[in-house]
Amino acid sequence: MKKPLIVLYLLFLTLYSFCQTMDAYEKAYKVVSSSIARLGGNSNFGKIESIELNLNGTAYDEGQSLSPSSEWHQREMNSRVIYKPKESTSYQSINTLTIGGLLYDPSFIIQDNGTGLQNQQSTNEWFELTEFEISILKSIPQLYPPRLFPFVVLGNAIRNAQSLRYIGLIEGGHNISVSDSDGSVITLIIDESTRLLNRIEMVSDHLVFGDVNVGIQYEDYVGIDSVFHPQKLRFTYNSKPFMELEAQVKLNTNSETSLFEKPDEIEFTELPGPFKPKEIVDGVWLMPVFSGLGITYNVMMIELEDYIILIDAPLFDGYSRGIQQVSNNISPGKPIKYVVASHYHTDHIGGINYFISKQVPIISNIGNEDFIKEVARVKHTVFPNSQMLNPSEAIVESFKKKRSFKDEKREVVLYEINGSPHVDEMILVYLPNERILFVADLLMSSYQNPTPMYNESLDYLIEFVKKNKLEVDIYVPSHGKILSAEKLRR
Ligand SMILES: [Zn+2]
Repeated sequence: MKKPLIVLYLLFLTLYSFCQTMDAYEKAYKVVSSSIARLGGNSNFGKIESIELNLNGTAYDEGQSLSPSSEWHQREMNSRVIYKPKESTSYQSINTLTIGGLLYDPSFIIQDNGTGLQNQQSTNEWFELTEFEISILKSIPQLYPPRLFPFVVLGNAIRNAQSLRYIGLIEGGHNISVSDSDGSVITLIIDESTRLLNRIEMVSDHLVFGDVNVGIQYEDYVGIDSVFHPQKLRFTYNSKPFMELEAQVKLNTNSETSLFEKPDEIEFTELPGPFKPKEIVDGVWLMPVFSGLGITYNVMMIELEDYIILIDAPLFDGYSRGIQQVSNNISPGKPIKYVVASHYHTDHIGGINYFISKQVPIISNIGNEDFIKEVARVKHTVFPNSQMLNPSEAIVESFKKKRSFKDEKREVVLYEINGSPHVDEMILVYLPNERILFVADLLMSSYQNPTPMYNESLDYLIEFVKKNKLEVDIYVPSHGKILSAEKLRR
């Protein structure tokens, strides 16, 4: 082709794709606008000062149960949400018991200027949320109030209109993609005949399941003061429900402003910073890898003569790289030779793939072995992990009842604790000479004034310690602060 011809051809291509984009944009804009009109229209939305949702129903501990093969643990869930659209400010309180009777009762206040507060209602601890913590809340559909209100979802879509694209008509629903203000892409599914927003979907990376499609389904719309809102919200992971809630909706209630503020007399609680190892005794460290949203996810690092044993690899791959670096710094020349997976729950093994790709053996209970091998095979294409770059089969070493490691420096004894209310099979890590016991979720502590949370799981632990005649001075929890043995006596 001659040069002018190439230029013409390129110009044509550019124009053609521009027209296509414009077409996809205009079509999407039309459908979203008609859905806004169907839900009550901008003038009616404009009259809303506040909208309150009382949500009640069933939630599931996604990916968590007593054993990897049983159904997700089911629990009752209550939540109250107040959203002020004009100020883009929200309040949400949650009340639920997660598996093993662990109380989860935070409230979150997210302000328009991007700041946020968290209150742990049972302990009345207050936390200041960072931008990062707020971005995590935004990625969890049930914890980001604006996503619970279809007219807010659509309003935000129009606000980011330049990113609207029409994908197609699929099974009676107009599929439209839009970028959220934080860049995440959401698919809106608007019913072809009713024009109601049926569903939104987001592709995301799950710590353990890999690539997942997270969805919110809006059902049973009802009109309240000329505005339509669903009375049922269903949250799904790859179309498997993880929350099914009935929604009672009220508009313009005179919500207490005190809900949106921290009482002056209460100081903020500071969480221990992540990746700052605290040496409990010589050669034994406790370190949070994530510290936020009112909780820490801890690992314990134990130094022996020639190597390190790591207890747990929480949350995700990137944190495990950080653990490796800290380990290199505090104990140069000693490799992490084993990773103990206290139990199979996502937040304790999410970072395991980094060590699997480095062929570090994972020590597990027999019942959790296959699950760990499966976790190593799961694809993470949205957010590639070490296994995607350098895949390896997991080396899993399981044991029954007890396994010890001993050299001149110290003795480490792993105990199986089975049949607890939290999980069928779990590992406790005991240092008999130092009288230290590492405990995953059977024991949790608050931060401000470290005390254990009393529940059936803690009773089970105390019984086990007694029965096995473990002499413990220091309890090291996977979430929370170190507790002395006296603190556990009621
Ligand atoms: Zn757990």
